[in-house]
Amino acid sequence: MGYLRGVVWAVGTILDSMAVSVRGLFRKPVTLQYPQEKFILPPRARAQLHVNIDDCIGCDQCARACPVDCIYIDTVKAPASEDLGKTATGHRKKLWVTRFDIDMGKCCYCALCTYPCPTECIFMTRSYENAVYDRSDLVYHYSTISPEQAAVYREVAAKAEAEEAAAKAAAAKAKAEAAAKATGEAPTPPAAGSGGPETSPAEPGAAS
Ligand code: SF4
Ligand code: SF4
Repeated sequence: MGYLRGVVWAVGTILDSMAVSVRGLFRKPVTLQYPQEKFILPPRARAQLHVNIDDCIGCDQCARACPVDCIYIDTVKAPASEDLGKTATGHRKKLWVTRFDIDMGKCCYCALCTYPCPTECIFMTRSYENAVYDRSDLVYHYSTISPEQAAVYREVAAKAEAEEAAAKAAAAKAKAEAAAKATGEAPTPPAAGSGGPETSPAEPGAAS
């Protein structure tokens, strides 16, 4: 009797599981024949980042907002005489963006970097098909400036900075001399290591 009950139970179980399979035949399939078929993404889906580098002013705000520090930006200040143009949003560009890399292997797709961008040039796209064999290929390079050109820009910037410092020092010296002339005294000689020209003239009557 116990044996027959077991057989009935086994047959019932088989029929039950077959019924599940048969029901599945008439359901709408949930699998996709990827890559021939593509997912229909939700309206607010976000995937890969993209940077329109022509509109980037190198302000670094996106990198500072990133919680995982996967945006790397290097900039070089252009001399005042250099016109780098404006972005589409009307912001004047003052820096050469010599490096703008995003490591998408670290990115958590939070989109926090996109909100502070003043020129709206960093944004999330709906592109998700970017599988690679080598993790280093997940570091996206957006700067169009080559390392050689960046070295040239750094030299130009250093020269302009030195010229600006010299001009400021000369102006400060001239001001000190004019002030001393007005009070009828010789300008105070610069103290050792004080940067000289920016030293104030002696107070009238303070000399012993
Ligand atoms: S989406 Fe988030 S994690 Fe990715 S780069 Fe932007 S701030 Fe960083
Ligand atoms: S916030 Fe925008 S403009 Fe500023 S560095 Fe990032 S991408 Fe460029």
